[in-house]
Amino acid sequence: MLKGLCDICGKPAELFVCRRCGRRVCAEHYDKDSGLCTICKGSLPKPLPRGQLVPAENPTTVSPKDVRK
Ligand SMILES: [Zn+2]
Ligand SMILES: [Zn+2]
Repeated sequence: MLKGLCDICGKPAELFVCRRCGRRVCAEHYDKDSGLCTICKGSLPKPLPRGQLVPAENPTTVSPKDVRK
């Protein structure tokens, strides 16, 4: 069992290592399902469901024909 200070909250606790950033975080800041700390989990891009509206700043959604009229 790994014990030390959580890299997120700084409290002494049993630690888990994030498999993405390597942070050592307490159970409160670790997601066992994904193996990620809450910071990495929060920054993960969520996959867009197909057929849904994509944000306008995404250039791949705008075809040149629509832009030049
Ligand atoms: Zn913590
Ligand atoms: Zn992480």
